[in-house]
Amino acid sequence: MLYNEPSPLEVRLLTRRFGLPNSASIETYLATEGYVAFRKALQMSPEQIIEEVKISNLRGRGGAGFPTGLKWSFVPRQSPKPKFVVVNADEGEPGTCKDRVLMENDPHQLLEGMLIAGLAVGAHTGYIYIRGEYRYLIEIMDRAIEEAYQHGYLGKNILGSGFDFDVYTHTGAGSYECGEESALLESLEGKRGIPRIRPPFPAVVGAFQCPTVLNNVETFCAIPAIIRDGGAAFAALGTPKNGGTRLFAISGHVNRPGVYELPMGFNLLRMIHEVAGGIRNGKKLKAVIPGGTSCPVLKAEECDIPMDFDSLARAKSMLGSGGVIVMDEDTCMVKVALRIMKFYAHESCGWCVPCREGTLWLKKLLTRFHEGQGRRSEIDLIGGLARNMLGRTFCPLGDAAAMPTISLVEKFYEEFEAHLDGKPCPYEIKTAVRV
Ligand code: SF4
Repeated sequence: MLYNEPSPLEVRLLTRRFGLPNSASIETYLATEGYVAFRKALQMSPEQIIEEVKISNLRGRGGAGFPTGLKWSFVPRQSPKPKFVVVNADEGEPGTCKDRVLMENDPHQLLEGMLIAGLAVGAHTGYIYIRGEYRYLIEIMDRAIEEAYQHGYLGKNILGSGFDFDVYTHTGAGSYECGEESALLESLEGKRGIPRIRPPFPAVVGAFQCPTVLNNVETFCAIPAIIRDGGAAFAALGTPKNGGTRLFAISGHVNRPGVYELPMGFNLLRMIHEVAGGIRNGKKLKAVIPGGTSCPVLKAEECDIPMDFDSLARAKSMLGSGGVIVMDEDTCMVKVALRIMKFYAHESCGWCVPCREGTLWLKKLLTRFHEGQGRRSEIDLIGGLARNMLGRTFCPLGDAAAMPTISLVEKFYEEFEAHLDGKPCPYEIKTAVRV
């Protein structure tokens, strides 16, 4: 299913089958170069596969942006333990909805990426951990898995190669925290989904205490194109150290919200105006959260920027999960901060104090502020509380709650002042932030 009209500015590599009749079926997949990359990978050594992924400059599309080939190279192939391939399909970052469309429209692309990863690291079992709210996708993935078994692309002695690989789907229970890789592994093993202390990292001690390649859906979906066309061709689509395309989920106050596949490094302002049709109702752009709600906000004047990991890091924000949330001039930034903090306070697993207590305190403070009950000294208190959470929590959820809050206070200080002294929110009537 397509949720939006494609843009002529897109480079459709991972989304090339979107919109084809029965795009999720194996017949459509095989008719459009499906499993060609896997057949090619069967002729390659594990080292050659990993080298090709390194050349592609593919960086993890889940948020952290770690180089995928390097991550795969950390798996100790000589370990006597079994190895696993695990797909993080627990897409829960507000503003992000691109893994969903990849699984819905082209599930075999994901399976092919997993198979190639299995060859690269010597794994024979793969799990797809799908978030609880995406339960309907289990049926789509299970159907694709069944088709792959029937056509000999999964199971024993695949295509007579001697390579065995099985894939299982596993559903989460609706916890944002289980999108963090070590909490995901705990949940996959049937335990409470709280993070593990690292190191060791999953590449060495992952699922069931065994070496594990764990990547996001979009990351695995990029693998077939990399092996089929070569890592250099993929790298050339993006910017140095940021290879390929990526799917951006553009939401908020734009005329054409949707999921668009664009080259890494595509300019953010062009993305808003030329791809997503500009700001609704002729309003002015006020701010953008460029990669899901855990990223620091950019003011309108900071948005003339290439959308890649390094450019956004230089601007003290992040590319994150590719969820681009666009806000117009009528948006109350105190309400944005409150809406974000409500989410993280709700999703905190409660294991560590700075996150468990900090998010609740911030939610209380921001609620009072938005109701006009804030005190001047508390503006700095909000920023200070958030800064005290940074880097002091077991998993990145603490940082995810702190970083947007710090940036909103720093960049929109006057909006916090406008809510002092019992004044009602100046934007209350007009505000319509949808994240
Ligand atoms: Fe749990 Fe939050 Fe600590 Fe992460 S940072 S372990 S979500 S309490």
